[in-house]
Amino acid sequence: MLAGIERIDEVEWEVPIGYVPGMRVPGRFFLSEDLSETLEAGAVQQLANVAVLPGIVRYSLAMPDIHSGYGFPIGGVAAFEQETGVISPGGVGYDINCGVRLIATPLTPDDITNPRALIEALFTTVPTGVGAESEMRISPHDLEEIMVEGVDWAVAAGYGTEKDAAHCEEGGKMPDAHVAPVSKKACQRGMPQAGTLGSGNHFLEIQTVDAVYDNEAAQTFGLSAGQVCFMIHCGSRGLGHQICTDHLRTLESATRRYGIEIPDRQLACAPLHSPEGEAYFGAMAAAANYAWVNRQVITHQVRTVLNRMYGIDYEEMPLVYDVAHNVAKMERHTTDKGRQTLCVHRKGATRAFGPGCPEVPQDYRAVGQPVIIPGSMGSASYVLHGTTTAMEKTFGSTCHGAGRVMSRTKAKKATPGSEVRKELLKQGIIVRATSDASIAEEAPDAYKESYKVVDVVRRAGLSLPVVRLRPIGVIKG
Ligand code: 5GP
Ligand code: MN
Ligand code: MN
Repeated sequence: MLAGIERIDEVEWEVPIGYVPGMRVPGRFFLSEDLSETLEAGAVQQLANVAVLPGIVRYSLAMPDIHSGYGFPIGGVAAFEQETGVISPGGVGYDINCGVRLIATPLTPDDITNPRALIEALFTTVPTGVGAESEMRISPHDLEEIMVEGVDWAVAAGYGTEKDAAHCEEGGKMPDAHVAPVSKKACQRGMPQAGTLGSGNHFLEIQTVDAVYDNEAAQTFGLSAGQVCFMIHCGSRGLGHQICTDHLRTLESATRRYGIEIPDRQLACAPLHSPEGEAYFGAMAAAANYAWVNRQVITHQVRTVLNRMYGIDYEEMPLVYDVAHNVAKMERHTTDKGRQTLCVHRKGATRAFGPGCPEVPQDYRAVGQPVIIPGSMGSASYVLHGTTTAMEKTFGSTCHGAGRVMSRTKAKKATPGSEVRKELLKQGIIVRATSDASIAEEAPDAYKESYKVVDVVRRAGLSLPVVRLRPIGVIKG
């Protein structure tokens, strides 16, 4: 382990106050001994830097998928007091409300007699790639409604059901969205891209449940061994990216104007109650709502293909759950001061609310919310459930994936995409992408081993495994 870091227990570590000057609270992160070699000094420095921000509550936190990001580390969680705290785009990320959802089906792998045909059908139906544009023609008025209504818009437009909305974090709609602080440029980028997967790390994956760890919870979530599921990973496309870019600029000057001292320019922020902070929050919420619509429209595209190819009804393909892993939200938590409303930033981290929380949909409330953790195109993904321990230790948060160990550039040089594709095919995994180059960037070796990361959050009690999913086919942006 890096010098200056103190061990709390088997999988929990403390970055003490003083690790960087001006820290208001300690840092805490979760990692096992065998993953410690994946830890970048730069990411720990970022974790410590976040602890300098005004109004931060208790700890600057990071999950075992920790790696360096823009300002905040990816895998980072930080909560700020409503009165004295700040909001920072670096704590949300460029892809606002990037997230993951899982759709269950009644299919088993044997039903998919021609997996390649299924993958091709999905690849032609779901627009994929950097500048992919949607078949869906939405007007500027539609876009405004999407940004305000979130998934409710998609349900009203026939892309899903009330049940889908109930199975999204926040019901698929952040209530405090504002369209006024969303620039024209952001709207222009977002308009043609609703219902598109995007590029790079984003994916649509055919998976099968190959291990069940908690029968009761699996049953509650509608999951069972041998079942085929579809996982969607994408976010707010150009709209969210532009909103982040626009507001970083205004928040950089706001940081100076409010006299906030930050150890890194990338931590630009503003008081939650300032006009600049409120403007970013409203625009960020608008992008979050757009992202939920995006994932819902893709869900509809997937269901349409499956209905056509296998004759399954839409109702037989329920949305298990949809989690956001790049977002800041106002949430109620118990702190030293009692029950408090906090602005919880999760940047490459997943909400993991435990049993009994009113925010968890009623049909799952006894178990805790489903937590969806993707692995890589060559390794297992997991569904877990949230816990009371997460509520106590991490403001109800856990990891969001395996996390990178190799930069895109490094991964591209390590193994050619065509080779990665062939190697995966040998393991029975079909990969379809817009280019072999994007496959290289996303090679399984570019990520930590997902089972190790999931084991850390299990041992820390932050979320508990329900099922494991093995990839059959992957569509990559
Ligand atoms: P991020 O949102 O940080 O780009 O990625 C989230 C996580 O998705 C990564 O940490 C990685 O573990 C996982 N991931 C990336 N590509 C794939 C893929 O093709 N399939 C699956 N199942 N997971 C992936
Ligand atoms: Mn993303
Ligand atoms: Mn993501």
